[in-house]
Parts: sequence; C-alpha cells; structure tokens
Amino acid sequence: MSITLQVEVPQDGTIALSWEKDRRVRAHTLLVVRTGMVPAFNAWHLGGKTNRFVLQNLSRHQRYRVALIAANGEASAISPWFEVTPRLGVAPRCDGEAADIVECVSRIQNVTVMPQDQRMTVYWKRSAGFADKVVLDIFAGDRLLRQLDIEPEVSSISLDAQRGIDLENGTVHSVRLHTKFSGVLHNTTDKTFCITAAQGEERAANATMAGKNLVYPTLSVMPELCFFDDDEEDTLPTQPLSIVCGTCGSHVEWQNYQLVCRNCGAQFIPNGRGDFLDMSRLRFGTCSCCLPKKIIVQRLGSETLACAHSGKEHIRASGSAGYWLIEDLPFGLCQCCRPRRPLVKVDERICCSKSNERHTHEDGTWVLVPSDPVFDASAIDDLLDQGLAEICSTGVSRASAATNRRAS
Ligand SMILES: [Zn+2]
Ligand SMILES: [Zn+2]
Ligand SMILES: [Zn+2]
Repeated sequence: MSITLQVEVPQDGTIALSWEKDRRVRAHTLLVVRTGMVPAFNAWHLGGKTNRFVLQNLSRHQRYRVALIAANGEASAISPWFEVTPRLGVAPRCDGEAADIVECVSRIQNVTVMPQDQRMTVYWKRSAGFADKVVLDIFAGDRLLRQLDIEPEVSSISLDAQRGIDLENGTVHSVRLHTKFSGVLHNTTDKTFCITAAQGEERAANATMAGKNLVYPTLSVMPELCFFDDDEEDTLPTQPLSIVCGTCGSHVEWQNYQLVCRNCGAQFIPNGRGDFLDMSRLRFGTCSCCLPKKIIVQRLGSETLACAHSGKEHIRASGSAGYWLIEDLPFGLCQCCRPRRPLVKVDERICCSKSNERHTHEDGTWVLVPSDPVFDASAIDDLLDQGLAEICSTGVSRASAATNRRAS
C-alpha cells in the first residue's frame, strides 16, 4: 500500500488536500502540525472513501506541516510531510521522505495518584503532540487488573467499583500510562504505586511508599488562624469546630468522604472558602469526578457545566437527569468539531451531537464520513487570539486551567 498526497493553496488561508482512492483503505488520518514557538498538533480520522479535505481560515503567516496515513487494519502507509504556508504564490514543499511521526507523539507527564477507600484517582498532564487515546494500565501487585482507553482530552480518572474496578484496601496498586497513536502504544511512563485504604487512614497506609506523586483527600473544618495584633482575644476555640446541620441543628459527620447530618440526612459540601453548602439547594448539583464531591458551575457566557474543582465538563444526558463525563461517553468524541463534541446514536447511526456529521467505526477508532470535507479553522484561531484556548494534541481547543478557575 502506498499513498500520494496532493497539497494546494487555492486562496489565502486555505489548504486543499486530495489523494487517490484505494479500495483497500478503510480509514485515513490527516495530520496537521502548526509550527512555531509552541507547535500545535491536529489529527482528523476520516473514512476510507474520503479522498479530499479542505482547511479554511488558517493564518496566512503561519507555516503548517501536513501528512496523511492510510490504513486497512493490517497495514498502513504514510505520505511525506508537506510544508505549507497558506498564502497565494507560496508553493507547498514536500521533503520526499515518509513522515516520521514517532517524535510528534504526545507524552504523559506528572502522574499523580490519590489513594482512597477502595478507590483511587489518577491525574496526569499530556505534552503537545498527537494522541488518539491515553491508555491506562491498572495493576494489583504484578497482576494487570484492567487496561482503559481514555480520550486524550481527559486528564484525570477515578477508578472504583462504579467503573467496574475493584480495588482492595491494603493491596499495593500501581498505574502506568501510554499514549496511543495510529494503533501503536508510545511513551510508556514509569509505574506509580499506592495503597488504597479507608477514609482517614490513606496517609498512614502509604507512609512506606516512595511518597512521590501521591496526594490525599483532606477536609479541614478548623477556622482560619488569626495572627494579627488587632484581632480580638479569645477568638480561637480550643476544641475543633463542629458543624451543625442548617436544617435541623443536629451534628454533622464526616463519613465516606461526605458531610452528612446524623439526624435528617441532609448533605453538605465545603465550598473551599470555609463555608458549607446544602447539596439539595445547588442549582446543578455536585460533580461526579471528585470525592469529596464538589459543586458544578456553569462557565461564564456558555452552557458548559463543569466541576469547580477539577474543571471537568459535565455533559447533559439527553432524556435523563444525569450528566456524562467524557471518560464515560459510550461512543467518545467526534472528529468534526474543535473542541470535539460527544458522539450520540440517532436512528442506528452514530453522529456528532453538535454537527450531526456521521461517523463509522474502523479498527477501534471512530472515523468521520464527511458530507462536506471542509474544516473551518477560524473558531480555533479566535479562541487562541483571545488567549482562551490551548490546542492540545488532537487539535482540541479548550480553556486552560487558569481560565477555568477564573470562570468559576
Ligand atoms: Zn439535619
Ligand atoms: Zn469534581
Ligand atoms: Zn463534531
């Protein structure tokens, strides 16, 4: 199998790509790198019958590199890289050799684990680069318990019985991550070890662990310390503060990572500023990513709901009251939009919930069968110009952590 890619600049800001149809090919991956100080990486998974794709509204002053992979499940072929500046009169340049993608694949960094009661949460960062999936291996001792394929947009995941992963307290568990691109695992991390333990015992249980890369759930109900001279005397209580229920006045207990009224069952969550919120009065309820649970907030000027702590989007499930996290979506995210949107099932077809573009499943990946093979890049550039987005390896634009905090 081989592939011949044609690259043209028919007008300013536009790159038109085309290639020959080959019956054997089941899926194409179009790779686009925006070069510069901070390179950005974009990959589109397209169906086997698609033989052209147009990128519109790119910057005329930016240099891009493009290449194409054709695959049929067993074999794959990759074109050379083309260097393109989308400005009329500047001819695309081909370097002749098959593109080397290994150096462009994203890496997982800063893996941190929070051990809890029969549960752990894994956090990571991903460097710029291509990634179709983040693959997470979970071990109990030396035994591989599970391997999870996670969308590259996700940067933390909770593992517990709810996700079908039984973690026994007292067992040494470990996790290891890889990035998967074009069907191959790359850049495997070292293992991070922890011992799951009952609430309140997590830190002691892990005292003998290397201590690196572990964080613990905490709840502080102490008042703020007053250390200025003009503070009134005797404001510091000698006993730890106890919390009473706002509904019935009974004592509130900290159990199973929840603040629950012993008498009426009311639940409260700390808002992080020393106050406690009655869960039944929250407009959007609590998150499904953290334990202790955190408040869900609506991002300023948008319909997007996110956990105030982790920033994770909570996607409204049509026809039901609940929310989805990206890692629990049955079909994952689309190939048509940036940022990518959830795929949903409509009349036996899998479509993007935003654009309705149809997707099909090829060798473990959802590929786009575009009705109009044109991608408008202006949305991404607008976000970048406003400093609101960082394009990560799949080209998804999303608010940075700092923006999330500001918005909430
Ligand atoms: Zn109560
Ligand atoms: Zn959360
Ligand atoms: Zn889409």
